[in-house]
Amino acid sequence: MKARKLLMIPGPIEFEPAVLQAMGMATTSHVAPNFIEIFGNSLELMREVWKSPKGQPFIVAGTGTLGMDMAAANLIEAGDNVLVISSGYFGKRFKDILDRYGANTTLLEAPVGEVVSHDTIENELKTKQYKALTITHVDTSTGIIVDPKPIALLAKKYNTLSIVDGVCSVAGEALHQDEWGLDVVLTASQKAIGVPPGLALLMVSEKAMQVWKNRKTPIPNYYSDWTNWLPIMRAYEERKPSYFGTPAVNLIVALQTSLKIICTEGMEQRVKRHQSFATAFRAALVSINLTILPKTDTIAANTLTAVYYPEGIDGAAMNTKMSVSNVIIAGGLLPDIKASYFRIGHMGSVSANDLLAVLGALERALSELGHSFEIGKSLQTFQMEILKTNYYAIQT
Ligand SMILES: *Cc1c(COP(=O)(O)O)cnc(C)c1O
Repeated sequence: MKARKLLMIPGPIEFEPAVLQAMGMATTSHVAPNFIEIFGNSLELMREVWKSPKGQPFIVAGTGTLGMDMAAANLIEAGDNVLVISSGYFGKRFKDILDRYGANTTLLEAPVGEVVSHDTIENELKTKQYKALTITHVDTSTGIIVDPKPIALLAKKYNTLSIVDGVCSVAGEALHQDEWGLDVVLTASQKAIGVPPGLALLMVSEKAMQVWKNRKTPIPNYYSDWTNWLPIMRAYEERKPSYFGTPAVNLIVALQTSLKIICTEGMEQRVKRHQSFATAFRAALVSINLTILPKTDTIAANTLTAVYYPEGIDGAAMNTKMSVSNVIIAGGLLPDIKASYFRIGHMGSVSANDLLAVLGALERALSELGHSFEIGKSLQTFQMEILKTNYYAIQT
């Protein structure tokens, strides 16, 4: 096991052995009674994770981008005004998708490392009737978290649907879909949900389902059309066989396994664990003279951290050195500054041990490349910070 690799990118993440074992089971029929039960359970467990007892869950084979596509295809008609609130790469992707469906989009973009202010959002909402607004809860390109709650209140005030790209947040960051009044919260399996890539997961409010039902034009996308998927989700929840497109049987068995692990830990505990790890990890990075991309701690995500390479350090060389130490991290993603920063994912079943391993490998790499700092400082800082909390162990 000397050469085992630690996958610390913001998705796919390290998966629980039980989840991977579930993936490897003998595939059953998608209408076998035991699979119907597993699919039904998974839909119910999603409501617990999203904190959306009233929501309509969807589990569809595809990636997070399909989740975004489904929200746009089903809720938006050509000519609808949609406000895209962006704090990075994935905000712009939402605009591209919405544009493809003929939406009249307005992009509110924060400068790198910042978020769009509530005043800016409200002033824009006053200018015309927006059908929907989109929020990227955690933008994985910048490691920035946007609090969806106050924005959902603004959306409600201006009679606008709120659509949240929660691909890098659901099951890692605080989320109360019903209480906060969020209309769509979508994610993908391979991030904090902790299942190999291949599932798009959405939770849709009663209000959004009503807006969908009342739309005037047909949905211009066959695979994404909820008309095809809603009866399937309802059937599985009623524990009845049904078919539209063959479900990703093994992935859904793995999904049930992971959702059970998440619910056993409990969302409150899980969010606190992510918060305490992220806080300690950022403090550790700052202690060795690194600069975090988000400009303030309050807008730094708890599921990943984006960090600038130190001045004069060759980023590619640093990543290679970390990889030689068997720690896999991600480079930058935001086109303008891609080569100047890196990203480390710390979501899902990540442990304090994993993060100490990352800091150790990072210190070795930086030291060899000539960055000046006190060796061991980031490990010490992490330990001091994490000891202040009780959340460093996954309670089972
Ligand atoms: C990963 C990610 C996506 C895209 O998900 P895919 O599964 O790669 O299609 C969208 N939005 C955010 C915030 C993400 O982190």
